[in-house]
Amino acid sequence: MSILYTISTGDTDSYLLGEKTFHISDPSIKKYCHWQFGENGKPHPAICPTCGRVLRPELWDKDGFQLRKRKCDMGTTYDGGHIVSDRAKGFLTDHLSCALEFTQLPKAKGYHRWDLRNLPSLAVSIDASHIRQGKYCDACGAFAEVLRGLEPGSPPTVLPLVFDDAPARGSLYRTDIAFGSNHAQWFTLVATEGLARKLYDAKLRDVYVVENIICKAGRPPIKKF
Ligand SMILES: [Zn+2]
Repeated sequence: MSILYTISTGDTDSYLLGEKTFHISDPSIKKYCHWQFGENGKPHPAICPTCGRVLRPELWDKDGFQLRKRKCDMGTTYDGGHIVSDRAKGFLTDHLSCALEFTQLPKAKGYHRWDLRNLPSLAVSIDASHIRQGKYCDACGAFAEVLRGLEPGSPPTVLPLVFDDAPARGSLYRTDIAFGSNHAQWFTLVATEGLARKLYDAKLRDVYVVENIICKAGRPPIKKF
């Protein structure tokens, strides 16, 4: 068993897919979401036209993208994107050996979009982590709702993630599933202890090493509430 750490990042108050949206009237789609990215009833080409999940994030609005908040070194957009500053990009490039995909933001000098799909992934144990999955979408073959397990209480607290296998080596990873609902689903960043310590010491703005994670080989028994 080893301990891993999730990395929490800031909020950029921005959308990679632009500002244009439309309301849904079709009841078969409305059961997934009440609005989608797109124009005049035509869904944005990046999303699933049924549940609104972002399937092709490479079709983001690069030239039109407005970074509304620039306070953080690492942050997310409301539609599942990740943004880093020059400083955070430098840290990641210096400490990770995997191929990293950054795109300079034309309208926000010193900031970059970071596409996490190239980052090595760790498989989350759905049962042991008490992940709640709902609103399965036949059109894209995935759940439109993927929520972290909660410990009952007032207020309820988020349960730690559990992984089936330990990472092969110390580094930064992403979860193999994205958490959230519809267009707002994000991969969670997961660091091994050494990398988490370096990230903490780097004192990047709005980057928090928030939680330890129990990592076990095999599936631990499910705790019933
Ligand atoms: Zn879908």
